[in-house]
Amino acid sequence: MSSEIVSFEPATGEEMWRAPVGDVDEVVEKARASWADWASKPLATRIELMRRFANEVRAIADKLAETIARETGKPLWEARTEVDAVIAKVEISITAYAERTPQRSFDNALQGKAAIRHKPHGVMAVLGPYNFPAHLPNGHMIPALIAGNCVIFKPSEKTPAVGEMLVGAFHAAGVPDGVVQLLIGARDEGEALVAHDGIDGVLFTGSAHAGIAINRKLASNPGKIVALEMGGNNPIVLWDTPLLDDAAALIVQSAFTSAGQRCTAARRLIVRDTLYDPIIEKLKKLTGRIIVDEPFADPAPFMGPVIDNQTADGLMESFVYLITNGGKAIRHLNKPREGLPFLTPAIVDVTEMEQRPDVELFGPILQVVKVSELDEAIAEANRTRFGLSASLIGGSPADYKCFWANIRAGIVNWNRPTNGASSKQPFGGIGLSGNHRPAAFYAADYCAYPVASTEMDQPRANIGVGLEEINPDR
Ligand code: NAD
Repeated sequence: MSSEIVSFEPATGEEMWRAPVGDVDEVVEKARASWADWASKPLATRIELMRRFANEVRAIADKLAETIARETGKPLWEARTEVDAVIAKVEISITAYAERTPQRSFDNALQGKAAIRHKPHGVMAVLGPYNFPAHLPNGHMIPALIAGNCVIFKPSEKTPAVGEMLVGAFHAAGVPDGVVQLLIGARDEGEALVAHDGIDGVLFTGSAHAGIAINRKLASNPGKIVALEMGGNNPIVLWDTPLLDDAAALIVQSAFTSAGQRCTAARRLIVRDTLYDPIIEKLKKLTGRIIVDEPFADPAPFMGPVIDNQTADGLMESFVYLITNGGKAIRHLNKPREGLPFLTPAIVDVTEMEQRPDVELFGPILQVVKVSELDEAIAEANRTRFGLSASLIGGSPADYKCFWANIRAGIVNWNRPTNGASSKQPFGGIGLSGNHRPAAFYAADYCAYPVASTEMDQPRANIGVGLEEINPDR
């Protein structure tokens, strides 16, 4: 295990933050000691503390956005929207807790009262990814805390500075130290936390590779709740529409926002043959205008660098693989700045490739497939082990009905991008994209478990059948 975590600014390569790795046993012990008190606080108190947290984030909004932009490389305007999402999550989660996990009771006739209530699990490990280092872990943390759990948050080893600020805002709001803790570490610490006996659940957002490893590790421990939000190989299907400029904008937004580092980014454009030439022309023009620059540049860039050089080099290798195995480059993937992970948006036609790899290329690479029938388009879209997000652009209401009914994904959109999901809806996928525990509005579901009770004020009972008559002589 390395003893320190160091993060670097992708846009400059400069060191940004460093700290020693945390002690897993220590944080788990502290969380366990804090849990009973937190769980027994009135719900109104926990909600009030979450609202204070939102106010703390409002107060540090500029600094937090700047830290997100520096540590991830995403444009400042985009980092600001992430901070807004962190703040908005509080009210959404309060509503979700009330709607998804309410207390209910009904008269059970002679059996007394039947009640349905929810209890927190205990100590939850939250493991976060680097691409939304505040919003995504926060999307697990707020619902978990409202429900009465303690949280140990291990941010991505690539974005610990943002993680530290987020946890600092909870403490500044008055949430006790032991209730929300930061665990600095990389994969080793993540593995140790997941396997720790003192953890009651794991709320994970990250790659399918890591999610599967976590699932496997906990396979013999069904008592621990495991929510896995993983990646995608998301299709965007272009069907009949005269609005090709809008279609091109939606495709570019879907594929290249955040330099393609969104789990919901469109990886595959499946296009009707009759629209192929005009849309490719428009995509070439539009992607040629995309500004790729550092987060604070003026004019503001559309996208920044990817997270690091290793990731950029891996994407470059994948692009070369595609074009040396039957793919035709429409726009090349370039790494314009020596030693820094800036990449230009790439488009490659893979229609003629015999075996298209079903992997998530987490960066600005869009693969294009030409088809002639809608059924073929849907079959092509479903040719993946993932199932996170899918969009149909164009088409009639009947086409959309057919698309919606047959596509396999947890997010299915029409004339909207594959990304930019709302926190007011469930967020999750099928196949390798998740384990049917969607986050966002439905996160409340995995943060508490339901308890059924039947209750009477007094113990009143008799046995009505199967007893001998009372014999006073016995
Ligand atoms: P990652 O899987 O490499 O890491 C995520 C977190 O898990 C990190 O904190 C990491 O240290 C930890 N980790 C890694 N291996 C582990 C293991 N074996 N046991 C325990 N913890 C482990 O993901 P990343 O590269 O940071 O993020 C990008 C990935 O996240 C992409 O695949 C993307 O699609 C996915 N993602 C999914 C969603 C979603 O909500 N579905 C959202 C954003 C990102």
